[in-house]
Amino acid sequence: MRNRRTALTAIAGAASLALTLTACGQSSEGGSKDDGGSTKGATIGISMPTKSSERWIADGKNVVADLESKGYKTKLVYGEDDPDQQVGQIENLITQGVKGLIIAAIDNKSMNNVLQQAAEAKIPVISYDRLILGTENVDYYASFDNEKVGELQGGYIVEKLGLKDGSKKGPFNIELFAGSNDDNNTRYFFGGAMKVLQPYIDKKQLVVKSGQTELTQVTTLRWDGAKAQNRMEEILTSAYKKDRVDAVLSPYDGISIGILSALKSDGYGSKDKPLPVVSGQDAEVASVKSILAGEQSMTVYKDTRELAKVASSMVDAALNKKKPETNDTKTYDNGKKVVPAYLLEPVSVDKANYKQVLIDGGYYKESDLK
Ligand code: BGC
Repeated sequence: MRNRRTALTAIAGAASLALTLTACGQSSEGGSKDDGGSTKGATIGISMPTKSSERWIADGKNVVADLESKGYKTKLVYGEDDPDQQVGQIENLITQGVKGLIIAAIDNKSMNNVLQQAAEAKIPVISYDRLILGTENVDYYASFDNEKVGELQGGYIVEKLGLKDGSKKGPFNIELFAGSNDDNNTRYFFGGAMKVLQPYIDKKQLVVKSGQTELTQVTTLRWDGAKAQNRMEEILTSAYKKDRVDAVLSPYDGISIGILSALKSDGYGSKDKPLPVVSGQDAEVASVKSILAGEQSMTVYKDTRELAKVASSMVDAALNKKKPETNDTKTYDNGKKVVPAYLLEPVSVDKANYKQVLIDGGYYKESDLK
């Protein structure tokens, strides 16, 4: 698995570039296509989960911009973390005659009926970032290497605690948080992180004082930072009366901010009681600022501009009866079919490399982070 994915990673880098170039080529072609092609001016429906997190706002903008550069019209909707609302919005998009759909699902198992309607209307469906489960009516999947995200989070904790390379250090106390249980990514993130952390838990170099180590015990419905803050408060009160927590596995920046609030209210963040190592994901502005202030330790950056390109190229290819570029046709089984995927590479970001990755990479301006 490791080898396959490492190889894949290398290909992904090269292919990502190729895809970018192809996308540029198609954009001018698509914009000026005068051959009566059926896709000219067609409208693509884009359904995103929530505006409460920056990343999805950026995803929406980037997908719209990319599709428009290819000559499409777009309708962008946000489901505000309510699965029924999202399904209703997609039904409306179908009624309004969209020719393609790009969907980042809120509840990955809620799409059965509405995607049956899409299939009957011959609308190709791209599952965006989160895999839609339990239906064969999803054509392609555009995402990141989700297991790698977890490996980066777990690996960072291990490295910062000095546990790597056979060190006998510890025991250190760690608490575990995972994402929403209705998001298929959650088990990949947690699985990737635990692959790294579990051996140290087995050797008792890492100890989970709360005893909550099963995925079902550590999920956070709808990725809600306030819920994570409550859970961290409860854990600190019940399991850390005498001890200190040294690390917290957090799957997403909004959750990390909640966890950090609980820790700070409990007196962490002073010389005598330093904050634990806290991971994150998405490189949201509040978390990058927190990293620069020495609070959150790291985040996992996923370039939504690249993901948008992949998804819009997929829908464009599908509408033009071409085969979109994919680089994983084995991993993402949704229970009805293995969905052909294109996976991009996530990048670990901390104080040491944020400039190079986020600023030099053009994702943020230094002034955004002031
Ligand atoms: C995405 C993450 C994000 C999380 C919460 C996941 O499906 O892959 O990037 O942090 O949802 O929005």
